[in-house]
Amino acid sequence: MESKLKYAISEKINKLTEDFEKQQIEIFRWLHQHPELALQEFKSSKFILDHLKKLPGMEITYPLSKTGIKAVLNGDKPGPTIALRADFDALPVKEETNLPYASKVKAIYNNQETFVAHACGHDANATLALGTATILSQIKEDITGKVVFIFQPAEEGTPQGEEGGAALMIKEGVLENPDVDVIFTLHANSHYYPGTVIMGSGTTHASMNTIIIKIFGLHAHGSQPWKGKDPIVAGSAIVTALQTIISREVDLQRGAAVITVGYFYGGIKVNIIPNEVEMGLTVRSLDDDNKKLLIKRIKEVAELEARVHGCRAEVYYEQDYPRNENNPELYHLMYPVVKSFAGTRNMVEYLPRTASEDFSFFSQKLPGLYIHYGTAPLDRPLSESKPNHHPQFQVDESVIKFATRLECTMIYNCLKILASHPQLF
Ligand SMILES: [Zn+2]
Ligand SMILES: [Zn+2]
Repeated sequence: MESKLKYAISEKINKLTEDFEKQQIEIFRWLHQHPELALQEFKSSKFILDHLKKLPGMEITYPLSKTGIKAVLNGDKPGPTIALRADFDALPVKEETNLPYASKVKAIYNNQETFVAHACGHDANATLALGTATILSQIKEDITGKVVFIFQPAEEGTPQGEEGGAALMIKEGVLENPDVDVIFTLHANSHYYPGTVIMGSGTTHASMNTIIIKIFGLHAHGSQPWKGKDPIVAGSAIVTALQTIISREVDLQRGAAVITVGYFYGGIKVNIIPNEVEMGLTVRSLDDDNKKLLIKRIKEVAELEARVHGCRAEVYYEQDYPRNENNPELYHLMYPVVKSFAGTRNMVEYLPRTASEDFSFFSQKLPGLYIHYGTAPLDRPLSESKPNHHPQFQVDESVIKFATRLECTMIYNCLKILASHPQLF
């Protein structure tokens, strides 16, 4: 009986996704052609909203976190609440894919005009969630509980000094009313072909801290450095000293850690020693104790090393993303569901990486599962598929139907399992 029911549901999902595929590819192309940077996603959110409003039984809240959307689908049977998060912001990248629907959009980023493109596949992520909302709203009578669709802006980071993304959506109550029990997200991955699912248990993404260091010296003529204090020399010593925190102080057995000085600005002319230089760091850690050590030691090393050179350093802490943890119990609950859908050969283990993801704000609050789906173009060898954020990053459209079915299957089954085992989460 149970397997018959399962079969009936997957048949329904297969039929509905098949019927919706053509329209869904149009949705994907529209989003792809209208990429928008973090917190500027007004056209995209209106487009998504217009579609959601047509679906039966959706309760919509807009805006959250400036351009974000929350849509709640109430199943006909009472039960738990599962959230599906999809990001939909784009990147300041010039698209070079030769697709007929390639982006030609320009926008202002950091006061500069730039091309904008969906080079991380957030257009695909949002297309899947919109498809899943469409399909599940048509099988409401089979849904045991509620599904919260979260369309999240600004995953790629907010403009300096602005709040946004997952953290702001949580602050504005996206996980309440109804209270969400568990949360999923699916993200495009161009290292694998469509059909592959990449999932792992425990830490998947590193924490991320943005740290700014300003070094103040004393201006002098470049021919007479003894009359000044050179912040470029002090800064150079700091750049080198910071790397010894990674190589000599961090317990790398607990997990990888990285300090990258991504910019170092100072000076204007060869024969002038400037008063001040500034550098910006990104700091990653797969372990929370290492993260604490890094935060503390970067400040100490910068301040002391600056003093060695007669200068003074000021350290500013900016962005602070937690590590993403895929809940092990939720992973073990969902792994068999995903495996029986995708096939054993198409399952790849997600190894912890030093990239970061603001889904981590959700997974800090409640059991979460971050999964990748392969999107590499089928018309070329895998080695020629360009990585996320590359100007030639591309999503094979055949994945849209597959991954929408995967989302529907995961949500439907997870609701059923949690409804019969309410003590689990
Ligand atoms: Zn990205
Ligand atoms: Zn992304």
